[in-house]
Amino acid sequence: MSSGGPAYAALQADGTAREISGDIFNEFCVTDRVVTPGKLLAPVVPANLLAVGLNYRKHAEEGGRGAPEKPVLFLKATSSVQNPGDPIEIPQALASREVDYECELAVVIGRRCKNATRATALDHVLGYTCANDVSARDWQRKPWGGGQWCQAKSFDTFCPLGPALVTRDEIPDPNHLRLRTLLNGQAMQDWNTDDMIFDVPALIEFLSGSKTLLPGTVILTGTPHGVGFARQPPVFMHPGDTVTVEIERLGALTNPVVLEKL
Ligand code: ZN
Repeated sequence: MSSGGPAYAALQADGTAREISGDIFNEFCVTDRVVTPGKLLAPVVPANLLAVGLNYRKHAEEGGRGAPEKPVLFLKATSSVQNPGDPIEIPQALASREVDYECELAVVIGRRCKNATRATALDHVLGYTCANDVSARDWQRKPWGGGQWCQAKSFDTFCPLGPALVTRDEIPDPNHLRLRTLLNGQAMQDWNTDDMIFDVPALIEFLSGSKTLLPGTVILTGTPHGVGFARQPPVFMHPGDTVTVEIERLGALTNPVVLEKL
């Protein structure tokens, strides 16, 4: 964010950044103008926020479910997006005592896409970023959830994205990336995207079948095992905590945790 408002810049190998002109979902170019990045915002305002559940085998098992036969889709409200460095708010009005983290590879669609095939799927990807699919387990499961994934995962601030959008040319294989969650510096999840049940091309093929993926659609691709509710004893996030989602080649997305102000 600059004094002129939100803008995109391209990070260079030497650590400087150059202003991007044009539309990142259409024609754009990296200019020669060197800029100093201001506050980092979520790198995309999602046109749609699609999320896939139970996409890693051991995570499906730790939740008491088997591996699904088809991808399990749910939606997160686009209003749940949060910037890197800004707080995840523990809800008070509809209170939750079981706010959990989920590290996920986020895929950003760049070109409108319908009925993609496995062979063409990645052609529609603009790039990748880190996501934290924050989840209020007491609204997802017992006592109040009844399986309401959309409700439990759509509270304000429950979808941190960032720190940057890494374009597709930088990531030859999105299914070969280590991903981790650190809670107050301690590793809680540590796995690799090569273990997805449905890999990124399979997800795009499935999701674009019968549904148009608009430019700016963000797909959360599921989380590996190690989430808080399945631990013995369970671990949830509390005000004062700091949570980081870190993905190889994509950087680290860190957010403090605070109590919602009423
Ligand atoms: Zn998730």
